[in-house]
Amino acid sequence: MNNITTNDSKVIVALDYNNPTLANQFVDSISPELCKLKVGKELFTLSGPEFVKGLVNKGFDVFLDLKFHDIPNTVSSAVRVAADLGVWMTDVHASGGRRMMEGAKNALEQCGSDMLLIAVTVLTSFDQKDMDELGLNCSPEEQVHRLAALAKSSGMDGVVSSAMEAQGLRQALGEGFTLVTPGIRPASAAGDDQRRVVTPSQAMANGSSYLVIGRPITQSLDPVATLLEINKEISQN
Ligand code: C5P
Repeated sequence: MNNITTNDSKVIVALDYNNPTLANQFVDSISPELCKLKVGKELFTLSGPEFVKGLVNKGFDVFLDLKFHDIPNTVSSAVRVAADLGVWMTDVHASGGRRMMEGAKNALEQCGSDMLLIAVTVLTSFDQKDMDELGLNCSPEEQVHRLAALAKSSGMDGVVSSAMEAQGLRQALGEGFTLVTPGIRPASAAGDDQRRVVTPSQAMANGSSYLVIGRPITQSLDPVATLLEINKEISQN
């Protein structure tokens, strides 16, 4: 079952550490009111469900970002197990199709879970050449809109999208749909390998529901101060 949400922050810190000790050092320096936490494939593969349960038990809202993509039966079982860990949100690939997404949502409803289930549309690393090679005869942006609409009509609670696409998606999909946006950089931070970046306040103005932020916080000289600064910036939106 889902934990009770006490955390109001719109910031989801990506715990992209290759070592659980480093991840725990950061976690021990913050509290659940300040941010939610994202555990992705690297840290999950290293540290597993016990690590995730530890974060949940400390009161954090956890986004388990494993981007499930498989046959409907397998994905339904996987999201049910994620719900049993007590995580706040998990994700699947929208390109797994309607039956996969509907099956996953139904599985959660059957076990009485209120975990949020969102879909990844097109990976932000994709460009037109990748689309062409896959035989997808449209632009990445068109595919994002197609898959986001499919995700919504398949019962997903929201999608992961670039903050640059948030405005169009918010207009197309309405207010109740959750938009989770990575690729955020405070105006003062370096761009790293994220190419299409948006500041926290721009992303909120574009209609983002939650901002996924990794390195600008975790690699900052003072991660807690940076997080507080970002919370302050977006509270003024
Ligand atoms: O360090 P940074 O802020 O770039 O981290 C962004 C996080 O969001 C990473 O965990 C990355 O895997 C994730 N992400 C992304 N682009 C997507 C989906 C997820 O950057 N389209």
